[in-house]
Amino acid sequence: MIFNYTEVAVKQALPEVLKEYIKNHPGTCTCQRCQEDILALTLNQLPPHYVATDEGTIFTQVSFDQIGGKAQVIAAITRSIQQVAANPRHEK
Ligand SMILES: [Zn+2]
Repeated sequence: MIFNYTEVAVKQALPEVLKEYIKNHPGTCTCQRCQEDILALTLNQLPPHYVATDEGTIFTQVSFDQIGGKAQVIAAITRSIQQVAANPRHEK
């Protein structure tokens, strides 16, 4: 199977980054649609990092070092949250 390791890492980091963001910005929408927009925007900012794995491999602990470090991932997610929160793609 081919995975985009960046996607695996972003999906893993997103909930905790969002949780932290909401602490400082209560009222931020976290519906499925907004989370998917955040995910898409983030993945467009970060270079993909494809890996081939055996069938059924599950990434339990993502190594952020492989994709440029966790700080970069968190910064990209935060930018995306701000962008989506400022302009949600649905009625408020
Ligand atoms: Zn929403």
